Amino acid sequence: MNQVYRTLKIRLPHRLVKERANVLDLAVRKLKELAQWYGIPYLEERLHSTVCPRCGAKMVEEKNRIMRCLTCGFSDNRDNIPIVWAKKLYNIKPLL
Ligand SMILES: [Zn+2]
Repeated sequence: MNQVYRTLKIRLPHRLVKERANVLDLAVRKLKELAQWYGIPYLEERLHSTVCPRCGAKMVEEKNRIMRCLTCGFSDNRDNIPIVWAKKLYNIKPLL
């Protein structure tokens, strides 16, 4: 959550940052409550976006936020890398 708040501070006037942070805090709080209600463990964690999820090497950024691993060849959009890490770390399988 702190990372979101810092990112918003850079781009928006303080009043809007505070309003949006409050909305995000509320959304996170409601998500935690729902998870608790259904007995689902809740974990808020920041995952890597510049470390290769296949081999652990440092990745380089190319155009349009594409990250590439020069060691194993893995590449994906920088915004997707944490999702790949989450799938790997928590053994998340597709629902279908
Ligand atoms: Zn790699």
